[in-house]
Amino acid sequence: MNKYLLLCLLPLVASAQNYVARVSQMADQIDQKVIGYRRHFHQNPELSNREVETAKFVADKLKALGLEVQTGVAKTGVVALLKGGKPGPCVALRADMDALPVPERAPLPFASKAKGEYNGQEVPVMHACGHDTHMAMLLGAAEILTTMRKDIKGTVKFIFQPAEEGAPRGEEG
Ligand SMILES: [Zn+2]
Repeated sequence: MNKYLLLCLLPLVASAQNYVARVSQMADQIDQKVIGYRRHFHQNPELSNREVETAKFVADKLKALGLEVQTGVAKTGVVALLKGGKPGPCVALRADMDALPVPERAPLPFASKAKGEYNGQEVPVMHACGHDTHMAMLLGAAEILTTMRKDIKGTVKFIFQPAEEGAPRGEEG
């Protein structure tokens, strides 16, 4: 998954040939870790503007990579900057963070049992729109690109966006 995402960034790196091989190899290396992130997010979904634990998890992983991390963006959003070793443009990669007020039906070991409050009602909460995979992939991309910092021409901005599904009534998002 990471491989395809990162190939879009080819123009940003110094030596293109090396880049493809390195991305491929690293994506294979961290595959299980990224799958683990996805399952964690899937099992712990949070509704729009309530992505508090999700934001903490994301920010911790990004800080551990040594990135410049900003939290509380648009309430629960997280933004990290990777400054490359060479001058160049800034490119943003984005993932959404929130889950939906729908029940989990799949009998998975990492199925969601989460509940939340949505417009005054208690509801089941589930990542039914793929935001769990988006976040896992973006964390994977951040990890791979961080190892290439010195070859990157420019800056990569990782944006974890809250409330993509729409903020609850009466809130901004
Ligand atoms: Zn969505």
